Amino acid sequence: MPIRLFASDLDGTLLSFSGDTAASQRFSAAWQAVPVGERPLLCYNSGRLANDLREAAHKGGLPPSDYLFGGVGTTLVDRNGRIVREYQEQFRPGWDRSLVVEVLSSIKGAKRQPERFQSPFKSSWFLLNASAELLAEIRERLRTVELDVTVVYSSARDLDIVPAAADKGNAIRWLCDHLGYSLNEVVVAGDTGNDSSMFRLPNINGIAVGNAREELIEATAGCRVLHTAAPEADGVIEGLTHYGVFAKA
Ligand SMILES: [Mg+2]
Repeated sequence: MPIRLFASDLDGTLLSFSGDTAASQRFSAAWQAVPVGERPLLCYNSGRLANDLREAAHKGGLPPSDYLFGGVGTTLVDRNGRIVREYQEQFRPGWDRSLVVEVLSSIKGAKRQPERFQSPFKSSWFLLNASAELLAEIRERLRTVELDVTVVYSSARDLDIVPAAADKGNAIRWLCDHLGYSLNEVVVAGDTGNDSSMFRLPNINGIAVGNAREELIEATAGCRVLHTAAPEADGVIEGLTHYGVFAKA
């Protein structure tokens, strides 16, 4: 089955945490070497907000994307830089940002992330080394006030509260429905827990890069996932070669 869409996380996957862009540029060169008619659509899917995401991709030497999901699947921007309203309207029922802020403000140790990390359908917090019990309590408190939200915890630090229908996986599912693609025509790549919803879509093809966190490995056990030897963008190259998007060297 030829691959028609490649969707990837950025930080720690296509972009290096070290700030070194050499591997990202190797990915870019390999991507652009695929003839246009055979190249899958490219989609970035990140916790960063859309504008920041586009800028980070550009700075890292990555190719422009066809679609871009920002804020853990809460915003979709098309290749012309336009926000796809139809996509985010689905989140209104069961969402109230100010109520989320009120509940989280009562959690000891939770600190609101700076404004540039917040968006209309995402409330982001820092909470260091939260236990499973504390996360369960937060979920319960949000449920009690009748919010229909997902609590995503990554890197033992980042706590994102988003509408229940919004995560990176549902974003890809929506896009595939929109484009008329099957999930087995899609490859996804990531490195942390908030990427796992992409890998858990039925019949999708996953790339867990060499530096993937244990939380992603555990959450994707039983999924179709390639664990690459190489880290970050070199791992993506290894994975896309495995799935036949890039020609074997
Ligand atoms: Mg990442």
